[in-house]
Amino acid sequence: MRLRRVAILMLASVLLTVLELFGRSQNANAYSLEKEAALGRQLAADVHQRTIPLNSPTVQSYIDSLGQKIAVYMPDTKFPFTFSVIADDPCSTIHEPAALPGGYIFVPAALFLAAQDETEFAGMLTHAMEHVAQRHRTLQATAGTFATVPLVFTGGWAGGCSEGPAIPVAFLALQRSAELQADLQAVQTMARAGFDPKALVHYVERVQDRPSRTMSKTYSPMPDRDERVTALLATMEKLPKVAYAVAPSGEFVRAQQEVRRLVGQSVPSDAPPSLLRRKPE
Ligand SMILES: [Zn+2]
Repeated sequence: MRLRRVAILMLASVLLTVLELFGRSQNANAYSLEKEAALGRQLAADVHQRTIPLNSPTVQSYIDSLGQKIAVYMPDTKFPFTFSVIADDPCSTIHEPAALPGGYIFVPAALFLAAQDETEFAGMLTHAMEHVAQRHRTLQATAGTFATVPLVFTGGWAGGCSEGPAIPVAFLALQRSAELQADLQAVQTMARAGFDPKALVHYVERVQDRPSRTMSKTYSPMPDRDERVTALLATMEKLPKVAYAVAPSGEFVRAQQEVRRLVGQSVPSDAPPSLLRRKPE
């Protein structure tokens, strides 16, 4: 029993350390910008190897244009963004794009199909881009090193959504806090870019499961859906009240149709992680 108490106290201390380090923002990051960019290049090359690209000039041009439009309103960004569209869906519970250090964003085809309009799509893209701007992955890796928590971070790719007791609880708490921070930054960026932030709330409410399908909250890398929605709404309350123009839907619909054509009409919206055949290992 005493050992158990000591273990709990040690875990709490690790958790406090990582959260404190995380809170110190960029100062706590052991990675130089050059090192982070090089790490991102390496991880991105690995992801390219393991995933099926969605080759379409129409879709690529759309995502490049939308991504750059959003990036203009992210003054903290230290890295240029590089967007790739893939048939795989690494975070199939909500179809979040994978955000790697150094600005490499892998957008799953499933997000094009799950978003009801451009504003919802832009909300999820902005959330992923905020992970890069806030340097979440290298901050997590830094905290992991300092707190001797194993470096689950090669996950920049897998870590975003993977869940399970194999990942330290303290690290998962850090991951959930990164998700909430990306949400809160995203609604502010969306508002500056002229996208109605309510769309991100609508998307999360509609698409994210509650409760987590497989694990208790403690073992989930994602914040509880209702917790996310409450935090998003609280941040939006503080934003200036403006009437947002409805985003023109033409280009998004064209890109969405092209994605649907490429992955096949028969793919349901809750399709398995890979919409197309996966490359052999
Ligand atoms: Zn996220």
